[in-house]
Amino acid sequence: MSLWVTKFGGSSVASLDRIDNVAERIAELRSQGNDIVVVVSAMGDTTDELLELAWNIDRNLSPREVDMLLATGEQQSAALLAMTLANKQCPAVSLTGWQAGIQSDSQHGKARIMKLDTSRIQKEIEQNKVVIIAGFQGISPEGEITTLGRGGSDTTAVALAASLKADHCIIFTDVDGVYTADPRIVEDACKLSVISYDEMLEMASLGAVVLQPRAAEFAMLYHVDVEVRNSFNDHPGTLITEVAKMENQRVVSGVAHDTNVARIALFDVPDHPGVASIIFKLLADHRINVDMVIQSAMRDDRNDIAFTIDRDEFNKARHVVNEIVVKIGASGMSYSIEVAKVSIVGAGMQSNLGVAARMFDALARKDINIHMISTSEIKISCIIDEDRLEDAVKALHSAFHLEQAE
Ligand code: ADP
Ligand code: ASP
Ligand code: MG
Repeated sequence: MSLWVTKFGGSSVASLDRIDNVAERIAELRSQGNDIVVVVSAMGDTTDELLELAWNIDRNLSPREVDMLLATGEQQSAALLAMTLANKQCPAVSLTGWQAGIQSDSQHGKARIMKLDTSRIQKEIEQNKVVIIAGFQGISPEGEITTLGRGGSDTTAVALAASLKADHCIIFTDVDGVYTADPRIVEDACKLSVISYDEMLEMASLGAVVLQPRAAEFAMLYHVDVEVRNSFNDHPGTLITEVAKMENQRVVSGVAHDTNVARIALFDVPDHPGVASIIFKLLADHRINVDMVIQSAMRDDRNDIAFTIDRDEFNKARHVVNEIVVKIGASGMSYSIEVAKVSIVGAGMQSNLGVAARMFDALARKDINIHMISTSEIKISCIIDEDRLEDAVKALHSAFHLEQAE
């Protein structure tokens, strides 16, 4: 008998019919003698709809109350799936995040799982029940409901698989697996049969929403092999695993894109020690996450500093940056929220010359202007205008011949 942790995303549980499809899959797995834990997301676009509803009241809402509201989405689908399974004579119980022992820190809206107490889940498994868990939620040390950031049900599933030492961890979604680029943008994107933890973490962090970055991090830390599959068919999926288990390392495995980006520039920043520290400490104190940073060459003891942040934190950041301008004596600031990030990712990149040149050349050929660049051993990212994003993703996909990736 083996233990399976499965997760079904929003589109896989978007209606009662689809919940029935999920229940059929679970009932079949169980009939083969397996123990099953199921993590579910909220139905369809429920999370977005709940947020829209709340924003009618105010844009500046209490993060605690937002979490109270959003957590209800996953509870609906968990209970409905338990009812559907019961109707098929398959005993099941639904649990909220806190009933399932998912303990997080106190950061509402982007809480991190700190500890899992799986005793309740284990008790239910021993009683022969399919255990259905509302994804994306936990409980803080203060006893408050938290949510784990958008896409957080993936992380619930992988963390549970690690803690329960599951034999299988499967993320069921609405595409066949992890592709060389978002298959909704690049028609000839190729499904990868295997991808390393490192590459998956980079792809996810750079915007490939097929897996939440924290889920990739958990998988890597606890050596959980994760399979991403389509809940609507039986096609083989993508295995996320140790690089050592891969036969060959690709130079470039994929192209990722992210539109949750805003760019801020500070002009004529005095060039002396401690200035950067003041800027980025103030942003950090306000919990604003900074991604790329560039500083221009010095002129007259001054230089310009530009950086990117998450676009959904832009309103908060604007006030903080105005404060920074005054504090450091800069001459002013500018910003753009019409930018996006396009990246190439590949574990084999570090040992191959000319990858960056090929990327910049592909963008130049399409007349796409690059505003900022950042690199690491296994990725290169460029900030470009958002209205050129699709062209950029397609151009890079074809420049690295990713349509022939497998
Ligand atoms: P779920 O609701 O199942 O969690 P998501 O919408 O969060 O589903 O993630 C699946 C989506 O991720 C796909 O529909 C696809 O558009 C998008 N996506 C972005 N990049 C990739 C990629 N490289 N491979 C596969 N899907 C990707
Ligand atoms: N329902 C949440 C979201 O839409 C969590 C998830 O789907 O993983 O982000
Ligand atoms: Mg998701």
